Amino acid sequence: MARKANVVLSEDDDDAPIDSDPVCLLCGFDIKIMQSIAVTNTTFPGVAFEEKQWKIYIRTRRKYVLVPSREVENTYFYKYPRLWTAACRAIIKGPNTKHYLTGINILRFDGGCCRYVPRDPHLACIGTKSEDPEFDNSFVHYYTAEIGRQRKWLIGYQCGYSVHAHCWVLLDRVFDGGTEFVEAHLERFIRAARKYWRDHKSLYGSSNWGRQFCGGPPLTFMKCFYGCDIYQNPAVDPKVRRLIEQARKTKAKPSHLCSQFMRVSLDVATLIAEQLCPVNYTVADIKNIRNMLAAFQWVLPECFWSARCRRDVIFELGDIKEIDPINWGALQLDLMTLLIDGKSGLSNRARIIGVITSIKSIYFSMRK
Ligand SMILES: [Zn+2]
Repeated sequence: MARKANVVLSEDDDDAPIDSDPVCLLCGFDIKIMQSIAVTNTTFPGVAFEEKQWKIYIRTRRKYVLVPSREVENTYFYKYPRLWTAACRAIIKGPNTKHYLTGINILRFDGGCCRYVPRDPHLACIGTKSEDPEFDNSFVHYYTAEIGRQRKWLIGYQCGYSVHAHCWVLLDRVFDGGTEFVEAHLERFIRAARKYWRDHKSLYGSSNWGRQFCGGPPLTFMKCFYGCDIYQNPAVDPKVRRLIEQARKTKAKPSHLCSQFMRVSLDVATLIAEQLCPVNYTVADIKNIRNMLAAFQWVLPECFWSARCRRDVIFELGDIKEIDPINWGALQLDLMTLLIDGKSGLSNRARIIGVITSIKSIYFSMRK
């Protein structure tokens, strides 16, 4: 089953070409098409219906619903945390059109045909399109375009690049003007991203990993290859939210300690802290500085924290509007741990923001 530009082919069409596996253009990780292993034991009516906010639709017996795309972008998928890897948009180009952005679908395995996404970029599909899809104009099918030379058979078909719905959220944070700016300059953006991945081919798609794993690669291998656990949701990390809530509750306690160390000047205290916890810190460095701050009750300047607790990655910090003092020191030390432990969504976010920042730099160095 395939759709040539604006032409619907029949279900038993033998001429349908075999498509490549979709890979996210922003992070280089596969769009994981959900099968009945590892993540879930059902593909119908759609595992996303199991999530709390969409459970109400189960009773309606609707095979799928279209919800605002923000709902998926802001979702952690508590029931099946890895489901975010199947939620994707596409940037599609038809034979006679320019690239355009689509809405979100959670791709599923159904014997070969699954690459349908809502046309409207503001919508996300929850549930499956149908067991026996009836194609209408609100969905669009696409084939995977290559980062290198395009395959000849793609001529005349709608093809494009996939992006994780959650990686698209991160793109919004990296580009001035956000995704609106990128959407207005999609042709140039695609050229920049393709160039980046052509220069980093070994990181584009798990088929380049050299070996396949059952149930996902072990963390140690992934840490060597990517520096972190790439299965962790990069845009919505409940641990970050939990730490912020915790800091709000505990607040900063005034110190009743009195020691000669408390009279050390701010410059000297900062100098000592920088020695103990350099910009490229380790988990052990964080532990050391935490102990030192607890013992001496020093309040370090903002420049110390901003160089280590990256605001460009932990954008939740910018959303805190507190009148009451919160325990900033403890909060930032906790977040720094998440940032570098390699196991959290925050570590994965730092990796992806690094990739998008490199694509951005290629974008602005290219001729228009
Ligand atoms: Zn991605």
